[in-house]
Amino acid sequence: MAHTISPSAATLAYLHRRKFTRGKLFTGRSCKNSSGSWLLSARRRFYFVASATNERYGGVMEISECEARPPIYAWPDNNKRPRVCILGGGFGGLYTALRLESLVWPDDKKPQVVLVDQSEHFVFKPLLYELLSGEVEEWEIAPRFSDLLGNTSVQFFRDRVKCLYPSDHLGMSTATVTGSGGVVHMESGLLIEYDWLVLALGAEAKLDLVPGAAEYALPFSTLEDAHKVNEKLRALERTYFGKDYPIRVAVVGCGYSGVELAATISERLQDGGVVKAINVGKEILPNAAPGNRESALKVLSSRNVQLLPGYVVHRIRKGGGFETSHELTKVEALYDATEICSPENLVLELQPAERGLQSQIVEVDLVLWTVGTKPQLPLLEHNDNPNMLPLNARGQVETDETLRVKGHPRVFAVGDSCALRGKHGNLLPATAQVALQQADFVGWNLWAAINGRPLLPFRFQNVGEMMTLGRYDGAVSPSFLEGLTLEGPIGHSGRVILAIFYRRNRGPQPIFHSRHVKLCFQSKMAKHIQQEKEEKDKHSFNKKCIKEEKAVKNGK
Ligand SMILES: Cc1cc2nc3c(=O)[nH]c(=O)nc-3n(C[C@H](O)[C@H](O)[C@H](O)COP(=O)(O)OP(=O)(O)OC[C@H]3O[C@@H](n4cnc5c(N)ncnc54)[C@H](O)[C@@H]3O)c2cc1C
Repeated sequence: MAHTISPSAATLAYLHRRKFTRGKLFTGRSCKNSSGSWLLSARRRFYFVASATNERYGGVMEISECEARPPIYAWPDNNKRPRVCILGGGFGGLYTALRLESLVWPDDKKPQVVLVDQSEHFVFKPLLYELLSGEVEEWEIAPRFSDLLGNTSVQFFRDRVKCLYPSDHLGMSTATVTGSGGVVHMESGLLIEYDWLVLALGAEAKLDLVPGAAEYALPFSTLEDAHKVNEKLRALERTYFGKDYPIRVAVVGCGYSGVELAATISERLQDGGVVKAINVGKEILPNAAPGNRESALKVLSSRNVQLLPGYVVHRIRKGGGFETSHELTKVEALYDATEICSPENLVLELQPAERGLQSQIVEVDLVLWTVGTKPQLPLLEHNDNPNMLPLNARGQVETDETLRVKGHPRVFAVGDSCALRGKHGNLLPATAQVALQQADFVGWNLWAAINGRPLLPFRFQNVGEMMTLGRYDGAVSPSFLEGLTLEGPIGHSGRVILAIFYRRNRGPQPIFHSRHVKLCFQSKMAKHIQQEKEEKDKHSFNKKCIKEEKAVKNGK
Protein backbone atom coordinates (compact mmCIF):
# COMPACT_ATOMS: atom_id res chain seq x y z
CA MET A 1 0.00 0.00 0.00
CA ALA A 2 1.23 3.46 -0.78
CA HIS A 3 1.67 6.11 1.86
CA THR A 4 1.87 9.77 1.05
CA ILE A 5 4.61 11.82 2.61
CA SER A 6 6.31 15.07 1.81
CA PRO A 7 9.34 14.94 -0.46
CA SER A 8 11.43 16.59 2.16
CA ALA A 9 10.60 13.91 4.65
CA ALA A 10 11.30 11.21 2.08
CA THR A 11 14.58 12.72 1.08
CA LEU A 12 15.61 13.42 4.62
CA ALA A 13 14.79 9.90 5.65
CA TYR A 14 16.85 8.58 2.77
CA LEU A 15 19.75 10.92 3.41
CA HIS A 16 19.58 10.22 7.11
CA ARG A 17 19.91 6.53 6.41
CA ARG A 18 22.93 7.28 4.24
CA LYS A 19 24.26 9.57 7.01
CA PHE A 20 25.69 11.96 4.40
CA THR A 21 29.06 10.31 4.70
CA ARG A 22 31.28 11.76 2.02
CA GLY A 23 32.08 9.27 -0.67
CA LYS A 24 29.70 6.56 0.45
CA LEU A 25 26.75 8.18 -1.25
CA PHE A 26 28.42 7.60 -4.57
CA THR A 27 28.62 3.85 -4.81
CA GLY A 28 26.64 2.47 -7.68
CA ARG A 29 26.02 2.64 -11.39
CA SER A 30 26.77 5.82 -13.30
CA CYS A 31 25.37 7.21 -16.53
CA LYS A 32 25.70 10.39 -18.48
CA ASN A 33 22.73 12.72 -18.86
CA SER A 34 21.80 14.89 -21.83
CA SER A 35 23.76 17.88 -20.64
CA GLY A 36 26.88 15.79 -20.34
CA SER A 37 26.87 15.57 -16.56
CA TRP A 38 27.31 12.30 -14.79
CA LEU A 39 24.42 10.88 -12.90
CA LEU A 40 24.48 7.93 -10.69
CA SER A 41 21.69 5.78 -9.40
CA ALA A 42 22.14 4.71 -5.86
CA ARG A 43 21.75 0.97 -5.54
CA ARG A 44 20.48 1.07 -2.01
CA ARG A 45 16.84 0.33 -1.56
CA PHE A 46 14.87 3.49 -1.26
CA TYR A 47 11.18 3.41 -1.80
CA PHE A 48 10.03 6.63 -3.27
CA VAL A 49 8.38 7.39 -6.56
CA ALA A 50 6.88 10.68 -7.67
CA SER A 51 3.12 10.78 -7.49
CA ALA A 52 0.99 12.40 -10.15
CA THR A 53 0.85 15.65 -8.17
CA ASN A 54 1.90 18.50 -10.37
CA GLU A 55 2.61 21.12 -7.75
CA ARG A 56 5.60 23.26 -8.43
CA TYR A 57 6.76 23.24 -4.86
CA GLY A 58 6.10 20.77 -2.14
CA GLY A 59 4.46 18.16 -4.35
CA VAL A 60 3.91 14.82 -2.70
CA MET A 61 5.92 11.67 -3.12
CA GLU A 62 4.66 8.19 -2.54
CA ILE A 63 6.39 5.40 -0.76
CA SER A 64 5.76 2.35 -2.85
CA GLU A 65 6.68 -1.26 -2.68
CA CYS A 66 8.73 -1.08 -5.83
CA GLU A 67 12.33 -0.08 -5.79
CA ALA A 68 13.14 3.41 -7.00
CA ARG A 69 16.54 4.94 -7.15
CA PRO A 70 16.93 8.64 -6.64
CA PRO A 71 19.52 9.73 -9.16
CA ILE A 72 22.53 11.35 -7.59
CA TYR A 73 24.83 13.74 -9.34
CA ALA A 74 28.22 12.15 -9.73
CA TRP A 75 31.01 14.65 -9.69
CA PRO A 76 33.53 14.18 -12.53
CA ASP A 77 36.44 13.68 -10.18
CA ASN A 78 34.49 11.66 -7.67
CA ASN A 79 35.14 13.15 -4.26
CA LYS A 80 38.82 13.81 -4.57
CA ARG A 81 38.57 17.55 -5.09
CA PRO A 82 36.27 20.03 -3.30
CA ARG A 83 32.74 20.09 -4.75
CA VAL A 84 31.22 23.53 -5.29
CA CYS A 85 27.56 23.70 -6.27
CA ILE A 86 26.30 27.05 -7.54
CA LEU A 87 22.54 27.49 -7.65
CA GLY A 88 21.45 30.08 -10.21
CA GLY A 89 23.36 31.24 -13.27
CA GLY A 90 22.57 34.95 -13.27
CA PHE A 91 25.07 37.72 -12.67
CA GLY A 92 25.93 36.38 -9.21
CA GLY A 93 26.13 32.65 -10.00
CA LEU A 94 27.71 32.70 -13.47
CA TYR A 95 30.35 35.21 -12.48
CA THR A 96 31.21 33.27 -9.31
CA ALA A 97 31.77 30.17 -11.47
CA LEU A 98 33.96 32.11 -13.89
CA ARG A 99 35.88 33.73 -11.05
CA LEU A 100 36.62 30.31 -9.54
CA GLU A 101 37.84 29.17 -12.95
CA SER A 102 40.18 32.15 -13.32
CA LEU A 103 41.94 31.72 -9.96
CA VAL A 104 45.19 29.80 -9.56
CA TRP A 105 44.71 26.71 -7.40
CA PRO A 106 47.12 24.25 -5.83
CA ASP A 107 46.88 20.98 -7.84
CA ASP A 108 44.59 18.92 -5.68
CA LYS A 109 42.53 21.87 -4.47
CA LYS A 110 40.98 23.16 -7.69
CA PRO A 111 37.29 22.61 -7.01
CA GLN A 112 34.88 20.79 -9.25
CA VAL A 113 32.16 23.31 -10.01
CA VAL A 114 28.60 22.58 -11.07
CA LEU A 115 26.33 25.46 -12.05
CA VAL A 116 22.60 24.73 -11.92
CA ASP A 117 19.97 26.86 -13.58
CA GLN A 118 16.37 26.27 -14.60
CA SER A 119 17.08 27.91 -17.94
CA GLU A 120 19.58 27.11 -20.69
CA HIS A 121 20.41 30.78 -21.11
CA PHE A 122 22.19 33.39 -19.09
CA VAL A 123 20.14 36.59 -19.27
CA PHE A 124 21.73 40.02 -19.33
CA LYS A 125 18.69 41.65 -17.68
CA PRO A 126 19.66 45.32 -18.05
CA LEU A 127 19.29 44.86 -21.82
CA LEU A 128 15.79 43.34 -21.70
CA TYR A 129 14.26 46.71 -22.66
CA GLU A 130 16.23 46.60 -25.89
CA LEU A 131 14.21 43.52 -26.87
CA LEU A 132 11.10 45.70 -26.80
CA SER A 133 12.72 48.50 -28.77
CA GLY A 134 14.07 46.00 -31.30
CA GLU A 135 17.69 47.07 -30.71
CA VAL A 136 18.89 43.57 -29.87
CA GLU A 137 17.92 40.03 -30.61
CA GLU A 138 17.42 37.35 -28.03
CA TRP A 139 20.69 35.52 -28.57
CA GLU A 140 22.66 38.74 -28.09
CA ILE A 141 21.44 39.23 -24.53
CA ALA A 142 20.73 35.62 -23.63
CA PRO A 143 23.63 33.39 -24.69
CA ARG A 144 23.56 29.71 -23.80
CA PHE A 145 25.46 28.55 -20.74
CA SER A 146 26.96 25.77 -22.84
CA ASP A 147 28.54 28.43 -25.10
CA LEU A 148 29.68 30.64 -22.26
CA LEU A 149 31.19 27.79 -20.29
CA GLY A 150 32.50 25.86 -23.30
CA ASN A 151 36.20 26.40 -22.58
CA THR A 152 35.99 26.03 -18.84
CA SER A 153 35.86 23.07 -16.49
CA VAL A 154 32.54 24.30 -15.03
CA GLN A 155 29.75 21.76 -15.53
CA PHE A 156 26.35 23.18 -16.39
CA PHE A 157 23.25 21.37 -15.31
CA ARG A 158 19.76 22.43 -16.27
CA ASP A 159 17.22 21.76 -13.57
CA ARG A 160 15.02 23.57 -11.13
CA VAL A 161 16.10 23.68 -7.51
CA LYS A 162 13.39 22.31 -5.27
CA CYS A 163 14.73 22.30 -1.73
CA LEU A 164 17.90 22.55 0.27
CA TYR A 165 19.27 20.37 3.04
CA PRO A 166 22.35 22.09 4.39
CA SER A 167 24.14 19.98 6.99
CA ASP A 168 26.82 22.46 7.94
CA HIS A 169 24.76 24.17 10.57
CA LEU A 170 26.95 25.17 13.48
CA GLY A 171 24.82 23.13 15.84
CA MET A 172 25.57 19.85 14.04
CA SER A 173 28.35 17.45 14.86
CA THR A 174 31.81 18.13 13.49
CA ALA A 175 31.85 14.77 11.77
CA THR A 176 28.95 15.77 9.55
CA VAL A 177 30.42 19.17 8.81
CA THR A 178 33.67 17.69 7.58
CA GLY A 179 31.79 14.96 5.70
CA SER A 180 29.59 17.09 3.47
CA GLY A 181 28.13 20.57 3.27
CA GLY A 182 24.68 19.24 2.49
CA VAL A 183 22.42 18.16 -0.33
CA VAL A 184 20.29 19.98 -2.89
CA HIS A 185 17.10 18.37 -4.13
CA MET A 186 16.20 19.13 -7.76
CA GLU A 187 12.75 19.12 -9.28
CA SER A 188 13.76 16.23 -11.54
CA GLY A 189 14.43 14.16 -8.41
CA LEU A 190 18.20 14.46 -8.72
CA LEU A 191 20.20 14.95 -5.55
CA ILE A 192 23.43 16.94 -5.55
CA GLU A 193 25.72 16.52 -2.59
CA TYR A 194 28.19 19.37 -2.15
CA ASP A 195 31.00 20.60 0.01
CA TRP A 196 30.37 24.27 -0.72
CA LEU A 197 27.17 25.89 -1.84
CA VAL A 198 26.60 29.27 -3.49
CA LEU A 199 23.03 30.62 -3.45
CA ALA A 200 22.47 32.89 -6.44
CA LEU A 201 18.84 32.32 -7.33
CA GLY A 202 17.95 35.99 -7.71
CA ALA A 203 14.43 37.26 -7.21
CA GLU A 204 11.20 37.33 -9.18
CA ALA A 205 8.42 39.89 -9.50
CA LYS A 206 6.05 40.16 -6.56
CA LEU A 207 2.56 39.98 -7.98
CA ASP A 208 0.68 39.14 -4.80
CA LEU A 209 0.63 42.67 -3.45
CA VAL A 210 -2.85 43.63 -4.64
CA PRO A 211 -5.88 41.65 -5.82
CA GLY A 212 -5.89 41.07 -9.56
CA ALA A 213 -2.20 41.77 -10.17
CA ALA A 214 -1.29 38.10 -10.55
CA GLU A 215 -4.18 37.53 -13.00
CA TYR A 216 -4.05 40.65 -15.11
CA ALA A 217 -0.66 42.35 -14.80
CA LEU A 218 2.52 41.28 -16.57
CA PRO A 219 5.85 41.45 -14.78
CA PHE A 220 9.07 42.42 -16.55
CA SER A 221 11.83 40.55 -14.85
CA THR A 222 12.82 37.54 -16.96
CA LEU A 223 13.42 36.78 -20.62
CA GLU A 224 10.06 35.02 -20.76
CA ASP A 225 8.37 38.10 -19.29
CA ALA A 226 10.03 40.30 -21.94
CA HIS A 227 8.77 37.95 -24.68
CA LYS A 228 5.25 38.00 -23.27
CA VAL A 229 5.20 41.80 -23.11
CA ASN A 230 6.59 42.03 -26.64
CA GLU A 231 3.96 39.61 -27.94
CA LYS A 232 1.20 41.48 -26.17
CA LEU A 233 2.37 44.81 -27.59
CA ARG A 234 2.61 43.29 -31.06
CA ALA A 235 -0.92 41.94 -30.79
CA LEU A 236 -2.20 45.33 -29.65
CA GLU A 237 -0.29 47.09 -32.45
CA ARG A 238 -1.91 44.73 -34.98
CA THR A 239 -5.34 45.22 -33.49
CA TYR A 240 -5.10 49.00 -33.33
CA PHE A 241 -3.39 49.39 -36.71
CA GLY A 242 -5.03 52.16 -38.73
CA LYS A 243 -7.45 53.06 -35.93
CA ASP A 244 -7.72 56.46 -34.28
CA TYR A 245 -7.61 55.08 -30.76
CA PRO A 246 -4.36 54.85 -28.86
CA ILE A 247 -3.07 51.69 -27.22
CA ARG A 248 -3.29 52.28 -23.46
CA VAL A 249 -0.56 50.86 -21.25
CA ALA A 250 -0.27 51.26 -17.47
CA VAL A 251 3.12 50.89 -15.82
CA VAL A 252 2.82 50.38 -12.06
CA GLY A 253 5.84 51.72 -10.18
CA CYS A 254 8.26 54.46 -11.16
CA GLY A 255 11.53 53.08 -9.90
CA TYR A 256 14.24 52.38 -12.47
CA SER A 257 12.37 49.47 -14.03
CA GLY A 258 9.07 51.34 -14.35
CA VAL A 259 10.62 54.50 -15.78
CA GLU A 260 12.78 52.59 -18.28
CA LEU A 261 9.74 50.57 -19.38
CA ALA A 262 7.53 53.66 -19.70
CA ALA A 263 10.21 55.43 -21.77
CA THR A 264 10.87 52.42 -24.02
CA ILE A 265 7.20 51.62 -24.65
CA SER A 266 6.13 55.23 -25.24
CA GLU A 267 8.93 55.57 -27.78
CA ARG A 268 7.86 52.35 -29.49
CA LEU A 269 4.18 53.30 -29.65
CA GLN A 270 4.78 56.97 -30.53
CA ASP A 271 1.44 58.65 -31.28
CA GLY A 272 -0.28 55.28 -31.39
CA GLY A 273 -0.15 54.83 -27.62
CA VAL A 274 -0.45 56.39 -24.20
CA VAL A 275 1.50 55.18 -21.19
CA LYS A 276 0.16 55.88 -17.70
CA ALA A 277 2.91 55.64 -15.10
CA ILE A 278 1.56 55.17 -11.58
CA ASN A 279 3.74 55.85 -8.57
CA VAL A 280 3.03 55.80 -4.85
CA GLY A 281 5.38 58.70 -4.11
CA LYS A 282 5.18 62.22 -5.51
CA GLU A 283 8.63 61.82 -7.01
CA ILE A 284 9.73 59.25 -9.60
CA LEU A 285 13.04 57.39 -9.15
CA PRO A 286 13.29 58.19 -5.42
CA ASN A 287 16.68 56.50 -5.02
CA ALA A 288 18.26 57.79 -8.22
CA ALA A 289 20.89 60.46 -8.70
CA PRO A 290 19.13 63.84 -9.19
CA GLY A 291 20.61 64.22 -12.68
CA ASN A 292 19.14 60.89 -13.78
CA ARG A 293 15.73 61.84 -12.38
CA GLU A 294 15.70 65.13 -14.23
CA SER A 295 16.74 63.47 -17.50
CA ALA A 296 14.01 60.87 -17.07
CA LEU A 297 11.37 63.53 -16.36
CA LYS A 298 12.44 65.46 -19.45
CA VAL A 299 12.18 62.38 -21.66
CA LEU A 300 8.85 61.21 -20.22
CA SER A 301 7.26 64.63 -20.56
CA SER A 302 8.36 64.83 -24.19
CA ARG A 303 6.45 61.62 -24.96
CA ASN A 304 2.94 60.31 -24.49
CA VAL A 305 3.45 59.44 -20.84
CA GLN A 306 0.98 60.54 -18.19
CA LEU A 307 2.49 60.49 -14.72
CA LEU A 308 0.10 59.60 -11.89
CA PRO A 309 2.16 60.29 -8.78
CA GLY A 310 0.83 59.84 -5.25
CA TYR A 311 -1.43 56.85 -6.04
CA VAL A 312 -1.50 53.24 -4.92
CA VAL A 313 -3.13 50.56 -7.02
CA HIS A 314 -5.88 49.11 -4.88
CA ARG A 315 -7.17 46.46 -7.27
CA ILE A 316 -6.89 45.38 -10.89
CA ARG A 317 -9.87 43.81 -12.58
CA LYS A 318 -11.29 43.08 -15.96
CA GLY A 319 -13.37 45.93 -17.33
CA GLY A 320 -17.05 45.35 -17.75
CA GLY A 321 -17.04 46.36 -21.42
CA PHE A 322 -16.52 49.74 -22.94
CA GLU A 323 -19.63 51.52 -21.74
CA THR A 324 -17.68 54.08 -19.68
CA SER A 325 -16.61 56.27 -22.54
CA HIS A 326 -17.99 57.13 -25.91
CA GLU A 327 -14.66 56.49 -27.58
CA LEU A 328 -14.45 53.00 -26.17
CA THR A 329 -17.96 52.15 -27.23
CA LYS A 330 -16.94 53.05 -30.74
CA VAL A 331 -13.93 50.77 -30.49
CA GLU A 332 -16.08 47.89 -29.31
CA ALA A 333 -18.54 48.42 -32.13
CA LEU A 334 -15.69 48.41 -34.57
CA TYR A 335 -14.30 45.16 -33.22
CA ASP A 336 -17.69 43.51 -33.30
CA ALA A 337 -18.14 44.63 -36.85
CA THR A 338 -14.78 43.39 -38.07
CA GLU A 339 -14.76 40.28 -35.86
CA ILE A 340 -11.36 41.20 -34.52
CA CYS A 341 -10.78 40.16 -30.95
CA SER A 342 -11.63 43.13 -28.78
CA PRO A 343 -8.73 44.38 -26.68
CA GLU A 344 -8.65 43.35 -23.07
CA ASN A 345 -10.11 46.18 -21.12
CA LEU A 346 -8.43 46.24 -17.74
CA VAL A 347 -9.40 48.51 -14.90
CA LEU A 348 -7.04 49.80 -12.24
CA GLU A 349 -8.63 51.20 -9.11
CA LEU A 350 -6.31 53.86 -7.74
CA GLN A 351 -6.42 55.26 -4.25
CA PRO A 352 -4.62 58.41 -3.18
CA ALA A 353 -1.44 57.93 -1.17
CA GLU A 354 -1.20 61.67 -0.64
CA ARG A 355 -3.67 64.19 0.75
CA GLY A 356 -5.68 66.26 -1.67
CA LEU A 357 -5.97 63.62 -4.37
CA GLN A 358 -9.14 61.88 -5.51
CA SER A 359 -9.54 58.15 -6.18
CA GLN A 360 -9.27 57.30 -9.85
CA ILE A 361 -10.30 54.56 -12.22
CA VAL A 362 -7.90 53.97 -15.07
CA GLU A 363 -8.80 51.79 -18.04
CA VAL A 364 -6.04 50.27 -20.14
CA ASP A 365 -5.21 47.42 -22.53
CA LEU A 366 -2.07 46.27 -20.78
CA VAL A 367 -0.79 46.52 -17.19
CA LEU A 368 2.92 46.14 -16.46
CA TRP A 369 3.90 45.53 -12.86
CA THR A 370 7.32 46.64 -11.57
CA VAL A 371 6.72 46.96 -7.83
CA GLY A 372 8.45 44.64 -5.36
CA THR A 373 10.57 41.54 -5.79
CA LYS A 374 10.39 38.16 -4.16
CA PRO A 375 13.55 36.06 -3.61
CA GLN A 376 13.17 32.36 -4.37
CA LEU A 377 14.72 31.08 -1.18
CA PRO A 378 11.68 30.82 1.13
CA LEU A 379 10.14 28.43 -1.38
CA LEU A 380 13.07 26.08 -1.01
CA GLU A 381 12.67 25.65 2.70
CA HIS A 382 10.57 23.10 4.50
CA ASN A 383 9.12 23.23 7.96
CA ASP A 384 10.66 19.92 8.88
CA ASN A 385 14.11 21.20 7.98
CA PRO A 386 15.91 21.93 11.22
CA ASN A 387 18.67 23.94 9.56
CA MET A 388 16.64 26.80 8.19
CA LEU A 389 18.55 29.54 6.46
CA PRO A 390 18.30 32.91 8.23
CA LEU A 391 15.95 34.97 6.06
CA ASN A 392 14.98 38.60 6.52
CA ALA A 393 11.43 39.93 6.16
CA ARG A 394 11.88 40.24 2.38
CA GLY A 395 12.92 36.60 2.08
CA GLN A 396 16.60 37.32 1.39
CA VAL A 397 19.19 35.23 3.16
CA GLU A 398 21.32 37.03 5.72
CA THR A 399 25.07 36.82 5.35
CA ASP A 400 28.04 38.08 7.28
CA GLU A 401 30.27 40.58 5.52
CA THR A 402 32.33 37.82 3.88
CA LEU A 403 29.05 36.78 2.16
CA ARG A 404 28.82 33.54 4.13
CA VAL A 405 25.29 32.72 5.22
CA LYS A 406 24.96 33.30 8.95
CA GLY A 407 25.35 30.03 10.84
CA HIS A 408 26.25 28.09 7.68
CA PRO A 409 30.02 28.10 7.15
CA ARG A 410 29.75 26.16 3.85
CA VAL A 411 27.10 28.34 2.21
CA PHE A 412 27.68 31.67 0.45
CA ALA A 413 25.03 33.93 -1.06
CA VAL A 414 25.21 36.59 -3.77
CA GLY A 415 23.02 39.01 -5.62
CA ASP A 416 19.32 39.68 -5.24
CA SER A 417 18.73 36.78 -2.86
CA CYS A 418 21.35 38.02 -0.41
CA ALA A 419 20.73 40.55 2.38
CA LEU A 420 23.80 42.54 3.28
CA ARG A 421 24.04 46.08 4.58
CA GLY A 422 26.38 48.69 3.18
CA LYS A 423 28.48 51.14 5.15
CA HIS A 424 25.51 53.42 5.91
CA GLY A 425 23.47 50.54 7.30
CA ASN A 426 21.11 50.31 4.30
CA LEU A 427 20.48 47.01 2.55
CA LEU A 428 22.54 46.90 -0.62
CA PRO A 429 20.35 47.41 -3.68
CA ALA A 430 19.29 44.46 -5.84
CA THR A 431 21.37 45.39 -8.87
CA ALA A 432 23.65 43.67 -11.33
CA GLN A 433 26.41 45.96 -10.15
CA VAL A 434 26.17 44.57 -6.60
CA ALA A 435 25.80 40.96 -7.79
CA LEU A 436 28.89 41.18 -10.03
CA GLN A 437 31.05 42.67 -7.32
CA GLN A 438 29.82 40.11 -4.80
CA ALA A 439 30.56 37.27 -7.23
CA ASP A 440 34.14 38.47 -7.38
CA PHE A 441 34.38 38.27 -3.58
CA VAL A 442 32.56 34.96 -3.24
CA GLY A 443 34.96 33.41 -5.77
CA TRP A 444 37.88 34.74 -3.83
CA ASN A 445 36.46 33.79 -0.41
CA LEU A 446 35.77 30.23 -1.59
CA TRP A 447 39.41 30.05 -2.65
CA ALA A 448 40.44 31.37 0.78
CA ALA A 449 38.13 28.99 2.68
CA ILE A 450 39.29 25.94 0.71
CA ASN A 451 42.94 26.92 1.15
CA GLY A 452 42.59 27.78 4.82
CA ARG A 453 43.26 31.50 4.30
CA PRO A 454 41.40 34.45 5.87
CA LEU A 455 38.25 35.58 4.10
CA LEU A 456 37.82 39.16 2.85
CA PRO A 457 34.92 41.39 3.90
CA PHE A 458 32.83 42.60 0.97
CA ARG A 459 32.81 46.34 0.31
CA PHE A 460 30.49 47.68 -2.36
CA GLN A 461 31.95 50.27 -4.72
CA ASN A 462 29.20 52.27 -6.38
CA VAL A 463 30.39 53.04 -9.91
CA GLY A 464 27.33 55.13 -10.74
CA GLU A 465 23.89 54.75 -12.28
CA MET A 466 22.86 54.20 -15.86
CA MET A 467 19.42 54.19 -17.40
CA THR A 468 17.99 53.50 -20.83
CA LEU A 469 15.18 55.80 -21.97
CA GLY A 470 14.57 54.37 -25.43
CA ARG A 471 16.65 53.84 -28.57
CA TYR A 472 18.29 57.25 -28.59
CA ASP A 473 18.01 58.47 -25.00
CA GLY A 474 19.72 57.47 -21.82
CA ALA A 475 21.19 58.90 -18.64
CA VAL A 476 24.48 58.12 -16.95
CA SER A 477 25.59 59.54 -13.59
CA PRO A 478 29.06 58.19 -12.85
CA SER A 479 29.86 58.15 -9.12
CA PHE A 480 33.41 59.41 -9.64
CA LEU A 481 32.22 62.75 -11.07
CA GLU A 482 29.67 64.12 -8.66
CA GLY A 483 26.90 66.19 -10.22
CA LEU A 484 27.67 65.09 -13.78
CA THR A 485 24.91 63.46 -15.84
CA LEU A 486 25.30 62.49 -19.47
CA GLU A 487 21.89 62.57 -21.09
CA GLY A 488 20.15 62.23 -24.44
CA PRO A 489 22.00 60.39 -27.21
CA ILE A 490 25.32 61.00 -25.40
CA GLY A 491 23.89 59.34 -22.30
CA HIS A 492 22.64 56.45 -24.43
CA SER A 493 26.04 55.94 -26.07
CA GLY A 494 27.79 56.51 -22.73
CA ARG A 495 25.73 53.73 -21.19
CA VAL A 496 26.66 51.28 -23.95
CA ILE A 497 30.35 52.25 -23.84
CA LEU A 498 30.47 52.04 -20.05
CA ALA A 499 28.73 48.67 -20.07
CA ILE A 500 31.26 47.32 -22.55
CA PHE A 501 34.16 48.92 -20.67
CA TYR A 502 32.95 47.55 -17.37
CA ARG A 503 32.33 44.12 -18.80
CA ARG A 504 35.79 44.10 -20.35
CA ASN A 505 37.87 45.55 -17.57
CA ARG A 506 36.14 45.59 -14.21
CA GLY A 507 34.20 42.38 -14.12
CA PRO A 508 35.53 39.23 -12.56
CA GLN A 509 36.16 37.18 -15.70
CA PRO A 510 37.51 38.15 -19.07
CA ILE A 511 36.32 34.96 -20.82
CA PHE A 512 32.69 35.90 -20.66
CA HIS A 513 33.17 39.60 -21.22
CA SER A 514 35.23 39.41 -24.32
CA ARG A 515 33.07 36.64 -25.70
CA HIS A 516 29.81 38.33 -24.90
CA VAL A 517 30.95 41.68 -26.25
CA LYS A 518 32.33 39.91 -29.31
CA LEU A 519 29.02 38.14 -29.82
CA CYS A 520 27.16 41.45 -29.66
CA PHE A 521 29.54 43.10 -32.09
CA GLN A 522 29.49 40.10 -34.41
CA SER A 523 25.73 40.17 -34.49
CA LYS A 524 25.61 43.92 -35.05
CA MET A 525 28.17 43.56 -37.85
CA ALA A 526 26.27 40.64 -39.34
CA LYS A 527 23.06 42.68 -39.26
CA HIS A 528 24.82 45.64 -40.83
CA ILE A 529 26.37 43.51 -43.58
CA GLN A 530 23.03 41.84 -44.24
CA GLN A 531 21.28 45.22 -44.49
CA GLU A 532 23.95 46.54 -46.86
CA LYS A 533 23.64 43.40 -48.98
CA GLU A 534 19.86 43.77 -49.12
CA GLU A 535 20.25 47.44 -50.10
CA LYS A 536 22.70 46.49 -52.84
CA ASP A 537 20.44 43.69 -54.04
CA LYS A 538 17.49 46.10 -54.14
CA HIS A 539 19.61 48.61 -55.99
CA SER A 540 20.83 46.17 -58.62
CA PHE A 541 17.30 44.74 -58.96
CA ASN A 542 15.98 48.27 -59.58
CA LYS A 543 18.74 48.90 -62.12
CA LYS A 544 17.89 45.64 -63.86
CA CYS A 545 14.19 46.54 -63.96
CA ILE A 546 14.94 50.01 -65.37
CA LYS A 547 17.21 48.47 -67.98
CA GLU A 548 14.52 45.97 -68.95
CA GLU A 549 11.88 48.71 -69.08
CA LYS A 550 14.11 50.80 -71.32
CA ALA A 551 14.75 47.79 -73.54
CA VAL A 552 11.00 47.15 -73.83
CA LYS A 553 10.39 50.82 -74.63
CA ASN A 554 13.08 50.77 -77.28
CA GLY A 555 11.45 47.67 -78.68
CA LYS A 556 14.51 45.48 -78.17
C1 LIG B 1 14.46 44.54 -16.60
C2 LIG B 1 15.60 44.67 -15.64
C3 LIG B 1 16.57 45.66 -15.84
C4 LIG B 1 17.63 45.79 -14.96
N1 LIG B 1 18.56 46.75 -15.18
C5 LIG B 1 19.63 46.87 -14.35
C6 LIG B 1 20.65 47.83 -14.60
O1 LIG B 1 20.59 48.60 -15.55
N2 LIG B 1 21.70 47.88 -13.76
C7 LIG B 1 21.81 47.03 -12.69
O2 LIG B 1 22.80 47.10 -11.96
N3 LIG B 1 20.85 46.11 -12.42
C8 LIG B 1 19.76 46.01 -13.22
N4 LIG B 1 18.78 45.07 -12.95
C9 LIG B 1 18.88 44.22 -11.77
C10 LIG B 1 19.80 43.04 -12.04
O3 LIG B 1 19.51 42.42 -13.25
C11 LIG B 1 19.70 42.03 -10.91
O4 LIG B 1 19.98 42.70 -9.72
C12 LIG B 1 20.70 40.91 -11.12
O5 LIG B 1 20.33 40.15 -12.25
C13 LIG B 1 20.77 40.02 -9.89
O6 LIG B 1 21.62 38.96 -10.16
P1 LIG B 1 21.38 37.55 -9.46
O7 LIG B 1 22.49 36.65 -9.88
O8 LIG B 1 21.14 37.73 -8.01
O9 LIG B 1 19.99 37.06 -10.04
P2 LIG B 1 19.57 36.78 -11.56
O10 LIG B 1 20.45 37.50 -12.52
O11 LIG B 1 18.12 37.04 -11.59
O12 LIG B 1 19.84 35.21 -11.73
C14 LIG B 1 19.12 34.24 -11.00
C15 LIG B 1 19.21 32.94 -11.78
O13 LIG B 1 18.67 31.90 -10.97
C16 LIG B 1 17.86 31.07 -11.78
N5 LIG B 1 16.85 30.46 -10.90
C17 LIG B 1 15.92 31.09 -10.15
N6 LIG B 1 15.21 30.19 -9.46
C18 LIG B 1 15.70 28.98 -9.77
C19 LIG B 1 15.40 27.65 -9.35
N7 LIG B 1 14.45 27.38 -8.43
N8 LIG B 1 16.11 26.64 -9.90
C20 LIG B 1 17.10 26.87 -10.81
N9 LIG B 1 17.42 28.10 -11.22
C21 LIG B 1 16.74 29.14 -10.70
C22 LIG B 1 17.26 31.99 -12.83
O14 LIG B 1 16.89 31.27 -14.00
C23 LIG B 1 18.42 32.96 -13.07
O15 LIG B 1 19.23 32.55 -14.14
C24 LIG B 1 17.72 44.92 -13.84
C25 LIG B 1 16.74 43.94 -13.63
C26 LIG B 1 15.70 43.81 -14.53
C27 LIG B 1 14.65 42.74 -14.30
